[in-house]
Amino acid sequence: MSDVQKTLVLVKPDALQRELVGKVVSRFEQKGLKIVAMKLAHLDEATLTEHYGHLKEKPFFGDLVKFMMQTPVVAMILEGIEAIEEVRKIVGSTNPREADAGTIRADLSMNVPSNMVHASDSAEASEIEVARFFNENEIFAYEKLTDKFHFGEGI
Ligand code: UDP
Ligand code: MG
Repeated sequence: MSDVQKTLVLVKPDALQRELVGKVVSRFEQKGLKIVAMKLAHLDEATLTEHYGHLKEKPFFGDLVKFMMQTPVVAMILEGIEAIEEVRKIVGSTNPREADAGTIRADLSMNVPSNMVHASDSAEASEIEVARFFNENEIFAYEKLTDKFHFGEGI
């Protein structure tokens, strides 16, 4: 059975500043990932300290938090077969200059922390991050005509 997953994506302030939100969202849509939640959110220091807790001791942590508070982010939940890994693949490696061509980070950015997108990196992280950014009533289940291509048997 195909494993349908949800994954949390944040479109970061550099994408908003550079007016590239539409391009980023479009890449996920074109792949066949379903947007099941989406909103703007201006993140506060407490949320970011929790979200980037694994980096708290890094020298760049303060700059990362400041960067993430420059503008609101677009938070969304994407759904699809093995969505967590597929989205990470589309997003590319953390350093945009080391990311594979064709990924969002390689094609649209040059630097950290301004690498366009955050995406959950595991099933455990996805569960925690979905709950961190969305209430249950902000997450939608709905049918699309294209579901037959992207879910189930794919025919
Ligand atoms: N980051 C940074 N400097 C670094 C490494 C990471 O500013 O040397 C930022 C970058 O925006 C990255 C985020 O911290 O996306 C989270 O880092 P992580 O290692 O979790 O990478 P990701 O999961 O985003 O690829
Ligand atoms: Mg990460």
